[in-house]
Formats: sequence, C-alpha cells, structure tokens
Amino acid sequence: MTTHALASHVDRRRRALTLALACGPALVPAAFAATAAPRVPILVYHRFASRMLDSMTVRIANFEDHLHVLHQLGCQVISLAAWVAWRLGRERGERVSLPPRAVVLTADDGHRSQFEVMAPLLRERGWPVTLFVYPSAISNASYAMTWAQLQELASDPLLSVQSHTYWHPNLVRDRQRMPPTAFQRFAASQLARSRDTLELRLGRPVTLLAWPFGLGDEGLARQAQQAGYEAAFSLGNRSAVAGDSPFDVPRHMIVDSVDARQLAARLEAAFADKAAS
Ligand SMILES: [Zn+2]
Repeated sequence: MTTHALASHVDRRRRALTLALACGPALVPAAFAATAAPRVPILVYHRFASRMLDSMTVRIANFEDHLHVLHQLGCQVISLAAWVAWRLGRERGERVSLPPRAVVLTADDGHRSQFEVMAPLLRERGWPVTLFVYPSAISNASYAMTWAQLQELASDPLLSVQSHTYWHPNLVRDRQRMPPTAFQRFAASQLARSRDTLELRLGRPVTLLAWPFGLGDEGLARQAQQAGYEAAFSLGNRSAVAGDSPFDVPRHMIVDSVDARQLAARLEAAFADKAAS
C-alpha cells in the first residue's frame, strides 16, 4: 500500500468511526458537573500487534480506534502519578481536583510492542502512560523489551516505569502453598528487588505497584506499604474512586474484544456515574 493509499485508508477508518460514535446517544458529551469524587477509568493494556498473537493482544488498528475514542469524547489523559497524588491528597484533607473526564493509561509486563507501537502513538498525542514491569523479563523473555529500550522510554517525562514485582508470581496462590514466614520473606523480596532494580537501572523513583494477575490481599497490601509503595493496582473492570483502598485500585483490562463502541460506553458510564464519596 502506498503512503497516500495508507493515509486515505486511515482517513476512511477515522470517518467511519466518527460516524459510528456520533450515532450512539450515550456518546453525546454530557456537561461535566464538578465533583469532588469522580470515577476515573484506569485502563490496562498488554501487547500490541497487527494480528492476534494471544488473548492479551490488542490489534494496532483497534488501539488506534481506542485513542480516537479518547480524543472524540474529550477525555483528558492524566498520569497515574497525578491520580495517586489526587487520591492521597484527598486522604490528607487537601483541596485537590482532577480535570474533567480524566482517564489513565497503563500497560503491564514489559512487552516490546509497548516500545515499538504504543509509546510512539501516545507520544504523538502527548499522552502519559505508566508501564508496570517485572525486571526478570527485561532483556530476557523473547517478547520483552531490553533494558536499553526501557531506559529510552523512562527518559521521556510522559512515561513512567513502575513495579510489577520481580518475577510476576501469583502471590495469593503462593501464600497458600508456603509456610507463613517463608512467604512473607518471599513477598518482601519480590516487592523490594523489583523496585531496587528498576530504580538502579532507570534512575527514577518507583513508588507504584501492580499486583501480578491483579491479585493482592490485605496482608500483601501491608507489606507493600511497609516496602515504601504509595499505591497498588489490581483488575476489576470498574473505574477508580477515592474510596478505593490505595492498595487495591481497580483497572479496566482492555483486550481486543473491547472495540471502540464498547470502550466509549464504558468511559461514558464512568463519567456519568459520580461516586457517592
Ligand atoms: Zn502482569
């Protein structure tokens, strides 16, 4: 396909998508009523490719449609650090606020396609993203980024690299299999070694954690807090509210079956439904 043909193909996709979005009554931007407790959709992606490679792949064309939806709906993509600062500021009783229609983007597991596909598309738009990485995979697993690629990303102020433990164990399952003291030592090492490795390699502070498989519990939350983390993120397909425990903040898992229309519906539902607290 020539450059011109490609451009007009993309234009046609955009026009079709805009039309599809404009037809949905739920997509008429509602006037934003200022609220102290907005619901904020935190999206989590994994892998990007032109075709489906596994259940965690989002096809690139679909991802581009998602970005178009975020733009069309007037979403303000904020960094995860900004959400955490707002959440913790509220806890301290500070008068803090978020922009209307705030959305957060994250991506887990250090897939190379985050470097090759996702980062350039987000950079074009000036949108921040947080990557949750488990260091044992970097420059090691066949699908993963190298340390050089991760360092290049981490040097971009729009991009933050945070902890996903050291080797991505299922901590909730491991707790049942191991003697309590051994488990506590193991979990502490997963939490500290990941943070220390990322800080050493990337020269940036690591204060946020994503639970492997989205699975944490209260004991692990205490350990994460003791290890110096400020917040930890799980899964849950609902939007985050100020009342969520800072160590169990839900994220929407985004897979390829979430098309533009479904994403738009989820976002509009979050923006329409203000939290009670
Ligand atoms: Zn993961």
